[in-house]
Amino acid sequence: MVQVNGVNHVPVFCMNCGTPGGLVPEQGIYFVGWMCDSCQEKYPLPPGTCAFPDHEYNQRVAGEWAKLGPDPVAKAVELLKDDRSTLSRLAKDQPKFGK
Ligand SMILES: [Zn+2]
Repeated sequence: MVQVNGVNHVPVFCMNCGTPGGLVPEQGIYFVGWMCDSCQEKYPLPPGTCAFPDHEYNQRVAGEWAKLGPDPVAKAVELLKDDRSTLSRLAKDQPKFGK
């Protein structure tokens, strides 16, 4: 586990080759599956799953982060406790394989 700005994060690795894929916030996460670009080009997605491009996801997170005001970490921690918040839903979706 890694702390980023006081928030616990869990490392994510490619489900096929083990390439590091960054970090996801621990709170509010119930499932994470990620496949690197190289493996995704070679192998089909697992049945019942869909791909969500990292750049598109990162743009959505950056947009939500920009709305958090002068103390974004404290506000993010608060929002991650609310399953209905957009930030909480984004945290659960990253990376989005399966639904
Ligand atoms: Zn891979």
